[in-house]
Amino acid sequence: MSVTAAGARRELADFEGRLIAPEDSDYEEARRVYNAMIDRRPALIARCADTADVARAVSFAREHGLPLAIRGGGHNGAGLGTVEGGLVVDLSALKSIDVDPQARTARVGGGCTWAEVDNATGAYGLATPSGIISTTGVGGLTLGGGLGHLTRRHGLTIDNLLEAELVLASGEVVRASTDENADLFWAIRGGGGNFGVVTSFLFRLHEVGTVFGGPTFWPIELGAEVLSAYRDFLPGAPRDLNGFFAFHTVPPAPPFPEEIHLRRVCGVVWCYVGGEEEARAAMAPLLEKLPEPLMHGVQEMPHAALQAAFDGLYPAGDQWYWRADLVEELSDEAVALHAEWGARMPTLQSTMHLYPVDGAAHDVGPADTAWSYREATWNAVYAGVDGDPANVETIRDWSVGYFEALHPYSAGGAYVNMMMDEGQERVRASYRGNYDRLAKIKAAYDPENLFRVNQNIQPA
Ligand SMILES: Cc1cc2nc3c(=O)[nH]c(=O)nc-3n(C[C@H](O)[C@H](O)[C@H](O)COP(=O)(O)OP(=O)(O)OC[C@H]3O[C@@H](n4cnc5c(N)ncnc54)[C@H](O)[C@@H]3O)c2cc1C
Repeated sequence: MSVTAAGARRELADFEGRLIAPEDSDYEEARRVYNAMIDRRPALIARCADTADVARAVSFAREHGLPLAIRGGGHNGAGLGTVEGGLVVDLSALKSIDVDPQARTARVGGGCTWAEVDNATGAYGLATPSGIISTTGVGGLTLGGGLGHLTRRHGLTIDNLLEAELVLASGEVVRASTDENADLFWAIRGGGGNFGVVTSFLFRLHEVGTVFGGPTFWPIELGAEVLSAYRDFLPGAPRDLNGFFAFHTVPPAPPFPEEIHLRRVCGVVWCYVGGEEEARAAMAPLLEKLPEPLMHGVQEMPHAALQAAFDGLYPAGDQWYWRADLVEELSDEAVALHAEWGARMPTLQSTMHLYPVDGAAHDVGPADTAWSYREATWNAVYAGVDGDPANVETIRDWSVGYFEALHPYSAGGAYVNMMMDEGQERVRASYRGNYDRLAKIKAAYDPENLFRVNQNIQPA
């Protein structure tokens, strides 16, 4: 860093939050991100107390030519919430949540996690679509798109974003919505953290009280049969029914029956927005087609509980390496390859998920937001996960091998939130026809590419 930590403290005397430098006792804790494979040492972590602090930190980084990273929930697989030798704008203290049950909106601080939001909105029987793990940050997940249990019913997270407050590269604070800075609002719905630091999000909420959900598992040997039946079934199922396909190893703990502990399985993780009777009827056509499952663990539960159901299996501090692809159609050859690679999951936590991208997600056109792949039917993610650093190569090899085998059957681009550092061509392929417009908006709002620790859109 071109200035010392002491110099930074002097220059940032008005900073209300906490400035954390390598000599501070909480530095090691503060620099850690979710993926333990990422081991970066920022020169300074600016844990902002409010929007004014964010503006101070952004201006400081710009004036001193420091690489800048934005940290929301710290979950990014590629570690884009931190930066070696630079300044981290840490939003983890921006935790305000203001639910308006009459207007059915929630204004959410840029550093919230989904658990915090789901619990606050759930108290009113309301929710906005997010992901499938509640410890994930609202910031990164939203700006990249947001795929989860409510996608088919209510769309991507960005389809429910009404407004955002941002600190631009200039340090200026602006609002973006369809009425104000509409180009910027278009770009942040899928364009990631390329355009500014979002200090608050305004989301539309929907009536989602309890849901009927949980996993149905079959033996992994039935992988091809279950996947092809799922492929034929889900796109025609009612929107109230979401179900992502998964290859998993059953964790050796409740609520899973002991006789299937550590067994490799394939299956569907369901989320039905509505009552038990309709949920069972909606799932029936698939279940009737397939042999008796090893486990059909569906039940009524609060939406926030389903969101948190995987949290214990995926705590912070494991090694993660993942690849992803958007998929329009699953051919029989692709199904056979999935069955082959799924059966070779290298560790207990490694997994493959196919998240639906249809239903309400298809009500929005490919150029309506920056998120271009609206004709995709699934997002496939090949996640190698393990607690032991000695297994990094094993999980990486499996993830990359799986991806390479299936990529020829994909739509071509990826969901940016599930990419590693895969280069500019891959970023372009993911935004396709929207890339040039994004690059022009980037040039208008961040001409020097200050916000470049991300899946980067380069200024036109
Ligand atoms: C266990 C796990 C489960 C996941 N499940 C899902 C899922 O179900 N659905 C899904 O869609 N995605 C999922 N993801 C992917 C997730 O969306 C991305 O990893 C996302 O980047 C995480 O956001 P974050 O704020 O926690 O990340 P961070 O690492 O804090 O930030 C990542 C990037 O997002 C940007 N960013 C974050 N906050 C802001 C902000 N307030 N303003 C501007 N830029 C910001 C920055 O550019 C930063 O570089 C999951 C990830 C993990 C690790």
